[in-house]
Amino acid sequence: MTGVQTCALPIYFSTGTSAAAAGGITLVFEMPNTIPPVDSDARLLEKKELVRPKAHVDFALHGLVRDTSTASGIEKMIKSGAIGFKAFMGPTTGNIPPPSHGTLYEVLDVLSKHGVPLLVHAEDDNLINYFTSKAKGPDPFEHLKSRPYVCEMFSAMELLSLSEYTGAKVHIVHISSRHVLKVLKWAREYGINLSGETCTHYLFLNSDIYKKVGNIARMNPPIREKEDSEALLNAIRDGTILTIGSDHSPHTLEEKLSDNPPSGMPGLETQVPLLLNAVKEGRLDLTDIVRLLSENVAKLFGLYPRYGAVLPGSRGNLTIVSLNSETKINAQKFYSKAKYSPFDGAVLSGKVMYTIVGGDIAYDGEVHDVRGEFVSKIS
Ligand SMILES: [Zn+2]
Repeated sequence: MTGVQTCALPIYFSTGTSAAAAGGITLVFEMPNTIPPVDSDARLLEKKELVRPKAHVDFALHGLVRDTSTASGIEKMIKSGAIGFKAFMGPTTGNIPPPSHGTLYEVLDVLSKHGVPLLVHAEDDNLINYFTSKAKGPDPFEHLKSRPYVCEMFSAMELLSLSEYTGAKVHIVHISSRHVLKVLKWAREYGINLSGETCTHYLFLNSDIYKKVGNIARMNPPIREKEDSEALLNAIRDGTILTIGSDHSPHTLEEKLSDNPPSGMPGLETQVPLLLNAVKEGRLDLTDIVRLLSENVAKLFGLYPRYGAVLPGSRGNLTIVSLNSETKINAQKFYSKAKYSPFDGAVLSGKVMYTIVGGDIAYDGEVHDVRGEFVSKIS
C-alpha cells in the first residue's frame, strides 16, 4: 500500500518512516516545506542523500513552487527526480509566500509538458489574512473561523481555470470542505485535469473534537463539520476524491500546547486502521482503500504498475491486514516523535499485520531495519 505523506518536517526521517512502516505505508511522498525548503535541484539532490540512509520505507521527494520559481529551475528538479511539486496558496507550515498567478501559470505550463503533477495547498492567502485579522487568540474555534469555506473554494476555482488553460495535472491536497467537491465534479464532467485528496482526520472527525482535545486537532485547512465528513466519505465511494493522504506533520506536544500552536498532527500510524474500521462499519469498501491509497496514487505520479499493482515487475511492497483483529490507538507508543493524536485511546476494528518493502519485512508488530528506495517517475 502506498501512502501520500503531505506536509512533513523531514529532519526526523527515521522516526517518520518507521511510523510509516508501522502504519502499513510502504512509500512516502516527502514534502518540500522544510528547513531549508526544497526549491532547487541542488537542494533536492542534497535532501535525497541526507534522508536515504534513514528511510525504512520507499520514498519520493516533492519540489517546492514559490514565487521565485522559474520554468528552467522546475525542469532541472524534474531531471533530478522530483516526483511532483507543491505550491502553498496561503499561509501554513514553513511560512512560504504563495506564488503569483503568473508564476503558477509558467510552472504549470512546464509541468503539463512532462506530465508531472502539481499538488496544491488550496487556501487563499488574501482571504485568510482578512479573516485571521478578525480572529481572537489561539482558540481552535477561532482558528476554524479564520479559515472559512470560501478560502478553499476560492483557491480551487482559480486552480480549475489554470488547469484547464494549461492542461497540467493539478491535485488539490487535504481537502476538508464539502464545497470543493463541486469543483472536482465539474472538472471531471468537463475533462479538466484537476483532482483531489482528502485525509483520514477530515473523514472521521468534526469540529466537536476541538472541545475534547483543543489545538491537538488544529489543522490547515481546519477540521470542519459532520456534513463535510459525510460528503467526503461519499466522494471516496463515487470516485470524486482520487486519493487519501496522511498529512503527517509531527510537531511536538509542547508546540501544540503552546500559546502559538502550529497546525498539523501525526497521521501515519492511524490512517490504515481508521480506514479498515470504516470498512468493518460498512462505510467504505476494502477496494476503496486499495484504490485510493495505492492504485490511484501510483497512476497520478506515473509509477504504475511498478507501484499500485501486484503484477510481474511490480516492486515487492505489500501491506497485509486483518479485518478481524483490533487496533487500540496508543499515541505514547507511536514510532513518530509526535506522541499524541485526537484518536488516542480509540479501539478500531482492523489491524496492520505485516508491512513488506522490496520483499523484506519492514513491520510485523515491530519495525525492522529495512532500507527503502528512492522513487522517481517511470512513465
Ligand atoms: Zn499543505
